[in-house]
Amino acid sequence: MRQIQSLTNPTIKALRALQLRKYRRQSKLFLAEGMRVVLAAVDLGWAPRHLVFLAGKENDAAMQKLIAHTEAAGGACFAVNRAVLAKISRKDNPQTVVASFAESWVSLPEIVQQGGVWVGLDRVRDPGNLGTIMRSVDAVGGSGVVLIGDCVDGFAVEAVRASMGACFHVQLAEASEAAFLDAMRGRQGQGWRGAIIGTALDADAVDYRRARWATPLMLLMGNEASGLSPALADATTQLIRIPMLGRSDSLNLAVATGIALYEHLRHNPD
Ligand code: SAM
Repeated sequence: MRQIQSLTNPTIKALRALQLRKYRRQSKLFLAEGMRVVLAAVDLGWAPRHLVFLAGKENDAAMQKLIAHTEAAGGACFAVNRAVLAKISRKDNPQTVVASFAESWVSLPEIVQQGGVWVGLDRVRDPGNLGTIMRSVDAVGGSGVVLIGDCVDGFAVEAVRASMGACFHVQLAEASEAAFLDAMRGRQGQGWRGAIIGTALDADAVDYRRARWATPLMLLMGNEASGLSPALADATTQLIRIPMLGRSDSLNLAVATGIALYEHLRHNPD
């Protein structure tokens, strides 16, 4: 374990750079903050590559567990002051621990083989929506999220934060729209009995309570501004809408995803 108090230390600068997608892509590392989240990750078998914590906390039982786990897996531990933690997390009031982990992605063939409940997000831009959706996928016992086309990074700091640890349990994939459509077509060709359900505001879409909610499920959700692309909408087994009774014309993306996922769970409780 090393002590670092300098804001210009190269390791600290490299960890702070993980706030940016460019450096996450280069290093294939991402940041997670907070004792509860980092402990949950470790309990799920993830090993921190770097563990940075507030100096003086090294004798706390939970911190000792994290330090032992990190060092056993070949990771590096750093005791730092609050200013260094604030610099890495870009927050005035940082958590007492920040860790870096290696990104983990699944491929489209693995998704097709696994089955289960997946959410496909079409060009989703807001990391808070993504993290909230990962949390909901986890809550219904779903498998993961596919980022289709030009989406926010799956391991953006705000997405990880909003997922409240679900990013360590919910699988992530990314694909171009064309590759995703190819994988879905291949899947349907093999006597497949699942559902690809798209969500839309169209008046002629089916009320979500009357949809054929089968498993395996791919639930397709549209971009925050423009909705689901026509090509993705065409690839669905059914297009559904959630009734809007007031004056708003649409629901927040993550809210609509949660409602649809729980409707699937209601029809498929096992
Ligand atoms: N202007 C966009 C449109 O025309 O689709 C609104 C997009 S909405 C904010 C983002 C996504 O949330 C939609 O593409 C859809 O996936 C989902 N969504 C929001 N409200 C919905 C509703 N009432 N029924 C079904 N899906 C909905």
